[in-house]
Order: sequence, then structure tokens, then C-alpha cells
Amino acid sequence: MADAPAPDEPEVLRLEGVRKSFGTSTPREVEVLHGIDLVLRRGEFCALIGPSGSGKSTMLNLIGLLDRPTAGTLFIEGRDTRDMDDASLTQLRGRSIGFVFQHHHLIGAFTAAENVMMPLLLYRNRPDVAMRRHAEALLDRVGLLPWKDSRVGNLSGGQQQRVAIARALAMSPALVLADEPTGNLDTRSADGVFDLLREMNQTSRTTFLIVTHDPRLAQRCDRIIEVVDGQIVADEAVLAPGRIGTA
Ligand code: ADP
Ligand code: MG
Repeated sequence: MADAPAPDEPEVLRLEGVRKSFGTSTPREVEVLHGIDLVLRRGEFCALIGPSGSGKSTMLNLIGLLDRPTAGTLFIEGRDTRDMDDASLTQLRGRSIGFVFQHHHLIGAFTAAENVMMPLLLYRNRPDVAMRRHAEALLDRVGLLPWKDSRVGNLSGGQQQRVAIARALAMSPALVLADEPTGNLDTRSADGVFDLLREMNQTSRTTFLIVTHDPRLAQRCDRIIEVVDGQIVADEAVLAPGRIGTA
């Protein structure tokens, strides 16, 4: 069982009074996040739940540095991102954050290994033997080594999501953001993918923030954060966090 992270674990993420409005240049400005305060520490495995339209994806986009808050401050690994330029945000995102989305944004015509190497190509330098070995080790961890040279477009949904997880971990990020990572999988594949996320969390101490609609999966996290209408309405530790392999 995962122990709750000690309060002295380093902060991976801090949101202070984060707000987000859309349509700020039009008369019909709408605020969808109304002042979010949140701290995640190293090793936490958290579910983010809430009704459709409550602002979960908007929050993940801000945390993932894909969009900027309208107000408030966001710290990644202790670094204040408010005054960073786009190039610095891109660097920080590449080094510190991994993404797993429901629609995984893999490149179907590329092989599994090539997809996993993509972040390394973007943020490091040319493909070399070490990079390929690293990609293969990651594919091995997600149980896909035999498929390393298969085109991703030919893999099953569950396998593609495993490739996406391997890719998310390629840069050894401090924080992985997963937006409904099991949303379009059947129950068995969803359980497998979820077990894998948990295993990655336990072996590497990576912090996870996982949006899910599945209460059963949320209960297997250490902590459940609930957003309703752009505000955090509940943030509680799960008393009996899920163990790998139990359902
Ligand atoms: P969730 O992921 O919880 O379903 P979202 O974060 O996607 O919710 O959306 C929260 C609210 O913000 C919704 O009302 C949605 O319509 C609105 N919204 C999200 N993105 C945009 C955008 N780019 N422009 C305008 N409104 C948006
Ligand atoms: Mg969403």
C-alpha cells in the first residue's frame, strides 16, 4: 500500500488563487475557474473529479502550462511561472510534466518506440542508441516491448494508452497529468491502464493528477479532489488507497 506522502515531501505543484476566464477580449467574458488553491507533493496519486463542464480540463491545461491563468499564481517544482516567457514555459513543461490524454495524440504512422522517443527528440538532441534503449526500457515497463516496432495505428486502444504512458514518462517528469486516461477503454483495459499508472507512481515517486469519471478508480487513488462550477468543493485523503492488482 502506498503511504501518504509526508508533509515534508517537496512541493511539485502549487496553485494560489488561480482564475481562468474565456472571451476576455469580448463583452461576453466568462470565468470558469474562480480562485483555485491546491498543493501537490512528491509521490501523491490524486484523482480530480467533478461534473462535466466544471473546469477539470481547463485546470489541467493551466497546470500543464498549455494555457495561462487570468489571475493567480502557479508554481511548478517551486518555480513561479507567472512571469516566464513562452520559451521558458515550454522548457519547464518538457522537463517537469508528462501528459496522458483520453485521445492520446500519438502519431499512428510512427512505431511505438518512435512515439516514446518524441519528447526526447523535442527536448534533447538527435536520436541515438541511448535514446532508443531508454524508449525500449519504457516500453518494457508498460509490457509492450514485443510491439516496439509496430505502428501505433495498428495497436489496440489499451495498448495505445500504454504507449502514451511510456511517452509521458520519457523525460522522468515530476508530475504526470492524465485527462480521463481510461475514458474510451473497456473495464478490463481501464483497470490495466490504471494499475500501470499506480505502479509507475510507486516505483518512481512521480506525482499523478488523474481526471476520471469512474468513482471506482477514484477510490483507488490516495486523494480525491472534487471540482464543481470552477471551485474545489472537497479535497480528501482516501482511507484505504487501492493496491496494485485489486479491483
Ligand atoms: P470539464 O473538463 O470539467 O468537463 P472544462 O474545463 O472542459 O470542463 O470546461 C469548463 C467550462 O469552460 C465549460 O463551461 C466550457 O464550456 C468552458 N470552456 C472551456 N474551454 C473554453 C474555451 N476555450 N473557450 C470558452 N469556453 C471554454
Ligand atoms: Mg474535461
